[in-house]
Amino acid sequence: MSKTKQSKLDALQQEILAANVCPELAQQATQLVMGGGNPDADIVLIGEAPGKKEDEQGLPFVGASGRFLNEMLDTAGLVRSDVYITNIVKYRPPNNRDPSPVEKQTFWPYLMRQLDIIQPRVIITLGRHSGAAFMPELRISKDHGQARKVHSDGHEFLVIPLYHPAAALYNGAMRQTLIDDFLHAARSARAT
Ligand code: URA
Repeated sequence: MSKTKQSKLDALQQEILAANVCPELAQQATQLVMGGGNPDADIVLIGEAPGKKEDEQGLPFVGASGRFLNEMLDTAGLVRSDVYITNIVKYRPPNNRDPSPVEKQTFWPYLMRQLDIIQPRVIITLGRHSGAAFMPELRISKDHGQARKVHSDGHEFLVIPLYHPAAALYNGAMRQTLIDDFLHAARSARAT
């Protein structure tokens, strides 16, 4: 792991705290969930916002969806330390409600800076909200699994939108689609 990238991410985290970003969310959350994994990774996975377990532990995807994510990583021959994982919104919304458009917009510039530090080759978005933040016209049921070049804030990203593990967890057909998409996305990230 590169100390430089991690120390830049730590500094960015301190900056978010000092700027009091989304104070209402911050007040109700246990802590900021900045991200986890390897900042030198080629693949960054981006979810929506932390849930209860993530809020408690300060790490992304450690609850039920995280266990499913681990299974998919394992199927693809990867472990957590092969990827970096974060969310669009970095505080848990109360009662796990969807993050609001304002909350997503407020955290967006920090996500851009996080990606600027990591410089991943491929971004895998998990869920509709995360995907639509990069591709406003996204129709997840049609577009899932398809890589797209996205230009945003002076960056060019290769983004692969996938279903959210929580949505697919108990839906047999969607679950298999997500597993297949994930394997395909991991393979194309290696080939990029
Ligand atoms: N769901 C998300 O979108 N992110 C997490 O970190 C956990 C669950």
